[in-house]
Amino acid sequence: MCTGRIDLAFVFRALMNGADGVYIAGCRLNECNYITHGNYYALNMVLLSKKILEYLALNPERIRIEFMSSSDAQIFTETVSDFTKKIKDMGPLGEAEGLDEETTRSRIYKVLKLIPYIKIVMRNKLSARLSDLSEREHFFTREEIEKLFSETPSYYIDPEKCQACTICAQRCPVDAIDGGKNKIHIINQETCIRCGTCYDSCPPKFSAIKKLVGEAVPPPVPEEKRFITRK
Ligand code: SF4
Ligand code: SF4
Repeated sequence: MCTGRIDLAFVFRALMNGADGVYIAGCRLNECNYITHGNYYALNMVLLSKKILEYLALNPERIRIEFMSSSDAQIFTETVSDFTKKIKDMGPLGEAEGLDEETTRSRIYKVLKLIPYIKIVMRNKLSARLSDLSEREHFFTREEIEKLFSETPSYYIDPEKCQACTICAQRCPVDAIDGGKNKIHIINQETCIRCGTCYDSCPPKFSAIKKLVGEAVPPPVPEEKRFITRK
């Protein structure tokens, strides 16, 4: 219904599921029926997706957005035909860029796993309205994308400090924290979307959650050692 609804995850999921390119058609900029102007969000999301593809050594031209009104049938058919031809000429995703299927899929999977984090870090830029078209190409920078992936934090609960107050588990938006009464809490690293909510919510008197950047996350404490005996 609205390009503003097209999540970064939709784009990368399409590529993960075998699409060689993604074409998005939205209403003309500044003609949105809603105050949200979701098509500006879609534009920024596409610009970000292109930079991420570039970072993954995949052709950024595999993602395209066009703006038109419902009466612009000619623009729609022309741009779809042009995009389809370009993608066909380019060849299959990954293979055309000299990557094997496993490498391509694992790179896209890595992005998919980090999408909630990417959206948190980039939220201000994603909601900007780029009125100056010349700004588009350099709106997201290579350095920014490299930093995004190289400085992705992990969160870890120090078993020596956790007092099982359960606050972090209650606030985690994706139920990534396994806890319980009198039980040292642990973070499921596979489920964690790295939002940092637990880090901010652990009471200062406990300060049990560590933010790790560029460090391996220690293994979780074994189940039998997770019970806290109160004196
Ligand atoms: S960083 Fe966010 S998602 Fe991960 S465990 Fe903490 S609250 Fe949950
Ligand atoms: S908020 Fe801190 S002390 Fe409380 S359960 Fe979570 S990690 Fe443990």
